[in-house]
Amino acid sequence: MNEITFEIPVWTQKVLTGKNAVITGGTSGIGFAIADTFLNADCSNVLITSRNEERLSESLRKLREKHPEKAIHISGVILDLGKPDGFTDAFLKMREAMGDCRIDIWVNNAGIYQDTKFGTVSEEEWDRLMDTNLKAQYFLSQIIANYMIEEKIEGNILHICSSSSYRPSIDPYMLSKLGMSGLTLGMAKMLIPHGIVVNGIAPGRTFTPMLHKQEGDSILNTKTPAGRYILPQEIANLAVFLTSPMGRMIVGDVIKMTGGSAVTTYDDVRY
Ligand code: NAP
Repeated sequence: MNEITFEIPVWTQKVLTGKNAVITGGTSGIGFAIADTFLNADCSNVLITSRNEERLSESLRKLREKHPEKAIHISGVILDLGKPDGFTDAFLKMREAMGDCRIDIWVNNAGIYQDTKFGTVSEEEWDRLMDTNLKAQYFLSQIIANYMIEEKIEGNILHICSSSSYRPSIDPYMLSKLGMSGLTLGMAKMLIPHGIVVNGIAPGRTFTPMLHKQEGDSILNTKTPAGRYILPQEIANLAVFLTSPMGRMIVGDVIKMTGGSAVTTYDDVRY
């Protein structure tokens, strides 16, 4: 694999024209790439969230600089996944920040990773991972699903899950993401009669701050069959496809993007 000749296709097709989207955790990694790519795909309004004013302002500045023609349609709201009692208020603030436009696309992206070891996991670690990666998404999903049903919006809800949950799950992180895959299926079944399409993406190891990766670091990863990390842009391209009219018949699927890690099978093991 040669990094110099390697090029990621940037989404250029205007397949989200007229759509308004919210991405939780848009200040970094996959969430930022999705916001950027939704704007490339001609989304009318994009709102991102963060826990932190400074990170939010800096990310909004970067997005506005990249998309000056849409600057006034790029907004942000403070959201802390650890505080579900603030979700309804945050949702009202989002509606206001987006000029009360219809929300067509909701991406449950924000999440945390923590390395834990079965046998030593504390209740605090368990609660933190479950609360941030599953409980919060559950309660946010109730708000957005009720809203779309009430407003008769045939929209999209996309969950960022994780391919790690397809391995025998023993860590709270994996279990929280396994829960997200289950929630994707359940919500998809319940909401498709309302015309609301729910899907998930299960990334493999992706080149983001979550894995301590930053610009300038090598994207090579010899531990995976493809030989490199997935780039956030690649996850974002799939997010556009899934939430665009092209993806409307994909319902309740959690699509893996792993660079081949998910196809390692028993024949790869030497007995
Ligand atoms: P990242 O670069 O660390 O970004 C995480 C985002 O989530 C940030 O925007 C952060 O916003 C937000 N966030 C974190 N904790 C939050 C909280 N308690 N309340 C509100 N927002 C919070 O990570 P990433 O790699 O892009 O991950 C995005 C999603 O992809 C996560 O759900 C992750 O589990 C999943 N994923 C990642 C990988 C990978 O290899 N990177 C693989 C599989 C799945 P602020 O810090 O600004 O609040």
